Amino acid sequence: MTRSLWFFLKVGLLVALAVWLVQRPGTVTIDWQGWLIEMRVAVLAALLLGIAMLAALGYRLWLALRSGPGAFGRRRRANRRDKGYRALTQGMVAVAAGDAEAARRYARQAEGLLNEPPLTLLLSAQAAQLQGDDQAARKYFQAMLKRRETEFLGLRGLLTQALKRGDRVEALEHARRAQQLQPKAEWPAVALVELEAASGHWIEAEAALDRAQRAKAIPADLARHRRAVLLVEESRQDAAEGRLEEALQGAQKAHDLNPASVAAAVQLAMLRARTGNVKAAGKVLEQAWRAGPHPDLARAWGAVAGLDDPLALVKRQEELLRLGPDCAEAHLALGEAALKARLWGVSRMHLEKARALAPTARVHRLLADLAQAEQGDGPAYRDALARLATAAPDPAWVCRSCGSTALGWSAVCRHCGGFDTLDWTVPGALPRLGAGSDDGPTALVSPTTHPRSADPHASGPPTAADQRLAPLL
Ligand SMILES: [Zn+2]
Repeated sequence: MTRSLWFFLKVGLLVALAVWLVQRPGTVTIDWQGWLIEMRVAVLAALLLGIAMLAALGYRLWLALRSGPGAFGRRRRANRRDKGYRALTQGMVAVAAGDAEAARRYARQAEGLLNEPPLTLLLSAQAAQLQGDDQAARKYFQAMLKRRETEFLGLRGLLTQALKRGDRVEALEHARRAQQLQPKAEWPAVALVELEAASGHWIEAEAALDRAQRAKAIPADLARHRRAVLLVEESRQDAAEGRLEEALQGAQKAHDLNPASVAAAVQLAMLRARTGNVKAAGKVLEQAWRAGPHPDLARAWGAVAGLDDPLALVKRQEELLRLGPDCAEAHLALGEAALKARLWGVSRMHLEKARALAPTARVHRLLADLAQAEQGDGPAYRDALARLATAAPDPAWVCRSCGSTALGWSAVCRHCGGFDTLDWTVPGALPRLGAGSDDGPTALVSPTTHPRSADPHASGPPTAADQRLAPLL
């Protein structure tokens, strides 16, 4: 618009000048070096204008000839770059839309057009992942390791792949290297805690937890909870290897950090009893029992006393009942002890009270055992079995990652290898994590709901728990 206005203005000026000259006729005479030229003013003006135009044209031509090849090359390169970035953008859009084929095509185009390996490698890796071509994705991730700016991202991709394959050893290596590269980054810090723990490296996991906490990659309450979990496992290992003093210190620390942890309380009580302090052991269990009765505490209550006589054990469990008379757990523990001591009447009385308070499978199983012990496989036993078949399930240590039930607490799920995933709950009541989930990087931190926790390690097949550690690029 401005250009055309400018053009019309110039034409207008020329026309005005021409008209002005025509209206003022006259001649110009040039006498120079024996030459005598005479012409009309208008002709001279036209001549001068023509010469000026020719000079301008010549100057432009000279400029174009001078910078010709360079300018052409620059234009070509700029064109390629534009096309490359367009392909890159379209590729990213295709990745976001889940169009694997288009993503791969644009990735290849961008790779050919752009000299930007960090960006094209990432797109190519994503496209390969989308197509399910793990081998190609691995190749790109490995190529990313060779460049400083993409190394961290490449490690993340390789870590994800290793977890998918269930190769925790390789995953651990990548997580360690990623943490060295970026000590303040969140995902390597959290992944390291889980991977070290899943490998049974309690001390290394604790050190990783320290680093994660320093990097503020893990909330303080979750860090405290996890430290207690690790300390219980460390204490168990120390105790198993005869380092009772260290074991006791570890258990005490775990109990102090998380007084609600059944595992820590049981571990501390057992160690106190083992080092000859049965009274202190009882105190720990008593305190934990008041906070929330639990079958593991009831068992430990009997065990720390070191009683062989079944009748003495009945007396011991009666003390537990005195801590809370309407406690189903206490009646159940006492009913079971009485059953072992062949005190049928006492056993029946407490089991019936437990059934009235919480009619779950465990009490029905003990009632069936009692009926069988008293009257053999008669009608009473069969009736008890029928009631058992329809009884509500009891709470158990359930892995919130894979849903499997464990006989006892451990820091690592023996089935899926998930760290700190066991909760004391009714099986089937927890929503499962990981399975089929598409968790992003933030999902590295397990949920912070930890109802109750209690024991040692294992390494199982890789599964959904690992998927939580598997942030996709
Ligand atoms: Zn599990």
